[in-house]
Amino acid sequence: MQGIEYRKESREKRMLREIYRELGISPEVIDYGAKIEAGLKERFVHFDEVAEYNQMKVLLAMQKNKVSEECFGASSGYGYNDYGRETLEKVYADTFHTEAALVRPLIACGTHALAIALFGNLRPGDELLCPAGKPYDTLEEVIGIRPSKGSLKEYGVTYRQVELLPDGTFDYDSIRQAIRPQTRLVEIQRSKGYLTRPSFSVKQIGELIRFVKDIRPDIICMVDNCYGEFVDTIEPSDVGADLVVGSLIKNPGGGLAPIGGYIAGTKECVENASYRMTCPGLGMEVGATLGVNRSFYQGFFLAPMITKGALKGAVFASAVYESLGFPVVPDSKEPRQDIIQAITFGDPDKLIAFCKGIQAAAPVDSYVDPEPWDMPGYDSQVIMAAGAFVQGSSIELSADGPLKEPYNVYFQGGLTWEHARLGILKSLEILCQRGLVRLP
Ligand SMILES: *Cc1c(COP(=O)(O)O)cnc(C)c1O
Repeated sequence: MQGIEYRKESREKRMLREIYRELGISPEVIDYGAKIEAGLKERFVHFDEVAEYNQMKVLLAMQKNKVSEECFGASSGYGYNDYGRETLEKVYADTFHTEAALVRPLIACGTHALAIALFGNLRPGDELLCPAGKPYDTLEEVIGIRPSKGSLKEYGVTYRQVELLPDGTFDYDSIRQAIRPQTRLVEIQRSKGYLTRPSFSVKQIGELIRFVKDIRPDIICMVDNCYGEFVDTIEPSDVGADLVVGSLIKNPGGGLAPIGGYIAGTKECVENASYRMTCPGLGMEVGATLGVNRSFYQGFFLAPMITKGALKGAVFASAVYESLGFPVVPDSKEPRQDIIQAITFGDPDKLIAFCKGIQAAAPVDSYVDPEPWDMPGYDSQVIMAAGAFVQGSSIELSADGPLKEPYNVYFQGGLTWEHARLGILKSLEILCQRGLVRLP
């Protein structure tokens, strides 16, 4: 019996080795990856448990709201009485434990969702406060930190920022001082994005929200939840956030949403946002869905599992490159708050080789050779690797890095753990082939 089992497994292993060879992965790299993976068992069990809980949470919300075939219909024109859209928004609201939600293909991307939430809830004379350092790059133009046409600043909304303490924690004394009578909204970004600060846990965010609400309970607390959904069993809305905002071509779209963003929160805050998403008077009552409902539902249903695969890929990448002596954030043992993995290569050739490996592992455009280019809005060249079914989707396997010291790469996604693993193995293979890394 044991003998048969053993032979069966070894045959599959052999076939796997063979197909990896066809994909351009050498036996040395496969073995190295397997050794690293063997040390991650416990962490993977934890991700499995979180994903199982979140899968049930989403399923329960779908059952409770009686999702039916009727929900998958397509509305056109004004999109009045789009039953599928309205039910989906209830499913999101129940999953995030909020009063209301907007989940729309009208929302072009994460930045747009964040901008709608800000513009909808701030008025001239109000002040926006970022109590945890600089917000995401693209928000600089929304807020007017960098001069920009149509920014909040042009509409008379002022802005303040409190830096994090050197150890990456909140500077509560300075936050208390920064809260003024005109402070109306506090924006907290969960994920580090393209910074090297740590990402915040939902628990930490909850503490910060409690601190703000203790000073002034009427201040709106909004969380940029991009890349954070389903990484934990709780979301920022479970710890007091009035608004949580994110992109559907990241975690909650489950890789299937072809476009879109969401805003979940209190009825009043979501309604305010809706008057900016469409216009005053119309709000959430209009907005045709043109047939995307089914992908939104199915993607949201799969999202906990897809996020889990991306998390396993991130930890695997962390462990592989950490073992080779590269600084990694987070390291392979830290708890995860988002799906992003930063690796510091300290050398442009290594950064470029890594990105070429990720690109070569893609299901789409795998034959394309990514090159550094001068991207608008950046002060150095940037290299990007993405071979995605949905343009720019970063829940799919992707990586990018600016070509400047310290030559960081930011890696994320992978619709399956197996694919994320292949991406990392392929990156390692290219680094080895070019003599940039030697396996111990
Ligand atoms: C991706 C992201 C955004 C929004 O980016 P888009 O490219 O506009 O979707 C905002 N904040 C964070 C932290 C992000 O990761």
